[in-house]
Amino acid sequence: MSDTITGGPGLAQHRRLLTEIPGPRSAELHARKTAAVAAGVSPGLPVYIAAGGGGVLVDVDGNSLIDMGSGIAVVSVGNAAPAVSAAVAEQASRFTHTCFMVTPYEGYVAVSEALNRLTPGEHDKRSALFNSGAEAVENAVKIARHHTGRDAVIVFDHAYHGRTNLTMAMTAKNMPYKHRFGPFAGEVHRVPMSYPFREPAPTSGEQAAERAITMIDKQVGADNVAAVVIEPIQGEGGFVVPAPGFLPALAAWCAERGVVFVADEIQTGFARTGDMFACEHEGVVPDLITTAKGIAGGMPLAAVTGRAEIMDAVHPGGLGGTYGGNPVACAGALAAIATIESEDLRGRARRIEQIMMPRLRALAERYPQVGDVRGRGAMLAVELVRPGGTEPDAALAAALNAHCHRNGVVTLTCGTFGNVMRFLPPLVIPEELLLDALDVIDDAFATQVG
Ligand SMILES: *Cc1c(COP(=O)(O)O)cnc(C)c1O
Repeated sequence: MSDTITGGPGLAQHRRLLTEIPGPRSAELHARKTAAVAAGVSPGLPVYIAAGGGGVLVDVDGNSLIDMGSGIAVVSVGNAAPAVSAAVAEQASRFTHTCFMVTPYEGYVAVSEALNRLTPGEHDKRSALFNSGAEAVENAVKIARHHTGRDAVIVFDHAYHGRTNLTMAMTAKNMPYKHRFGPFAGEVHRVPMSYPFREPAPTSGEQAAERAITMIDKQVGADNVAAVVIEPIQGEGGFVVPAPGFLPALAAWCAERGVVFVADEIQTGFARTGDMFACEHEGVVPDLITTAKGIAGGMPLAAVTGRAEIMDAVHPGGLGGTYGGNPVACAGALAAIATIESEDLRGRARRIEQIMMPRLRALAERYPQVGDVRGRGAMLAVELVRPGGTEPDAALAAALNAHCHRNGVVTLTCGTFGNVMRFLPPLVIPEELLLDALDVIDDAFATQVG
């Protein structure tokens, strides 16, 4: 089955189930997986993929599923996007690696130029490229510490920044990310997030920022803080959108106190929220910005971009890595970025919000289990609770998610309490497919809400 199939937008854009999900060939592969792959690496939906493109994933049994996850906000330009695939193939046929720190090449420079141009702020910028989001976050902290000569790093409740030792320390949630993986890196301090749905009393963004800043002042001391690191909309933590004013107030405090304000836009970046970067929504200009996921159409690449005087503070040789800014990944990034701009994928993300939001709000009206509907652009979520309050209902989120999976829609959950269904479709998803996915989600509620 998988021998001849090619992916990309030419794949038939429909949901079509030929077997139960997962089908027999996926089940066979999964038995091999269990015998060969570490149990800790555990797929949420064990259907094995043969091809992807547009808004569909085709599995090894020939089922065509609607992709509402984009491999966690990665293939925003579509899976096997033609421009990305062609650029990657072309680069791979010329050279696959030299190590930029040994003998450099243009692609790395061109990606850095693009990031410097596209990220918020008109100031002089520099970029450095890495392999994964966690590595970018680690390097942002290294750079901020080096520049300020200070140690402390401030992070927030519900934050997710990765799975390496430092980024586990920065990530909030114990299970599954941190459990029995310590001891963790020091000098990481957690303060309260602005999480409007879970505030005990209405709290403005400015008030929530004041609460966090007071805690930093009293428990850490501004003079000891190298960086405040925050996701403008939290990803794994539950698609938490802070109250308006929260991010600008934090950024202003950082500027006053010489603290490096780092926006972790690894999940929110590259048009996902309807702006190129989520910070733009409130006109926030971070000192440093970390990017990955949507940057290269599925090729592994990450970056730190920021103010030239901060980035260039680090001595030559202080930053790098064998594969960072690999030439094939850079070719993918240049093609993905060109596609985002030429196809107006920001506009597509806004259109996805226009289509999905009313449907999700209608669910909230019908079902008291939908406590909150939130997000921006093509980064949307529903938070599930026991009717009448805010008590999380993770079991319902899991049941709804499983219903979607059985019916050929690849959805994801998230949240500190595991009670959030999140939607991250490829920005190029055809509208009919999106409407079909929404019908399946409706049906999930109709059948799963008891
Ligand atoms: C996914 C993610 C990371 C980690 O990226 P990896 O590439 O998995 O290391 C860091 N921060 C945020 C906000 C993310 O969503």
